[in-house]
Amino acid sequence: MKANISDTDLCFIGTALRNIKRCLAQVSPSPGLDSEVLIASVLKKERAYLWAFPDAEIDGAQRVQLRALVERRCSGEPIAYILEKKEFWGLSLSVNSSVLIPRPDTETLVERVLICLESLSKDHVADLNMLDVGTGSGAICLAVLQSFDRVRCWGVDVSIDALMVAMRNAKKWGGGRYTLLQSNWASAIMPDSVHLFASNPPYIRTNHACLGKGDVRFEPETALVGGETGLEAYEILIDQAWTVLRAEGYLVFEHGYDQGQEIRDMLHQAGFVSIVTDLDLARHERVTWCQKPLDNKNGS
Ligand code: GLN
Repeated sequence: MKANISDTDLCFIGTALRNIKRCLAQVSPSPGLDSEVLIASVLKKERAYLWAFPDAEIDGAQRVQLRALVERRCSGEPIAYILEKKEFWGLSLSVNSSVLIPRPDTETLVERVLICLESLSKDHVADLNMLDVGTGSGAICLAVLQSFDRVRCWGVDVSIDALMVAMRNAKKWGGGRYTLLQSNWASAIMPDSVHLFASNPPYIRTNHACLGKGDVRFEPETALVGGETGLEAYEILIDQAWTVLRAEGYLVFEHGYDQGQEIRDMLHQAGFVSIVTDLDLARHERVTWCQKPLDNKNGS
């Protein structure tokens, strides 16, 4: 949709706030907030400044810039891609259309990973190895690293463009403990080397109605769509996790709200034990985790 906004609508902060909000009302669930963050980013100010100085002028060059951003938002582009950043776990992360926009749901996965690492660290003197498959922007590993010292993270992704984004975030937040690797799923990882295997893989079913709405229209399909059943990535990952995990290592998956039972069944079938599903903030089944047994079925 084209933005119905003129240059004069944007002359002062107060009028710009009102006019952009009106303009975005049909395309965004949060037009007021969107108008604030777009203006604040062009003026390079905090949002509070806008409400303190509604009569301040927006100069000509800034108005041109602002209109271009409003146009993009009007066409449905997510705010995170327009601003090229997204907050996750209190970290400001770089994002672009090569990576999924980190979701609050994924904080449920981070919380579970931290509990698993804490429990493993009781029996390990050396640093633990964590693997994140389909690392995207790096949100999961970087959040974990903020809250747990004794871990080294390996993030793998098949997409070089995604790895470039993760690299930027790693430089800022990784503290030298987050290593990136291009890999088709976990195929580049050595057997028996990982204490904790985490992944938020693509899990939406092909042609699912949600793919035609909102922010997901702009996100990389390879990070969203699992295939006909939505479970295809888990089939590969469960198999690989069994190989790369050490005995008693943890596997932690994010999944769709309606996939918990199928994933628990798949994990059980593969020989994993202590399989549990956590609920997200909306009380949907969202994260399933389990352990590789000490005496696994291969006898190693
Ligand atoms: N949770 C995302 C959504 O429903 C999907 C993320 C994923 O496929 N890993 O939009």
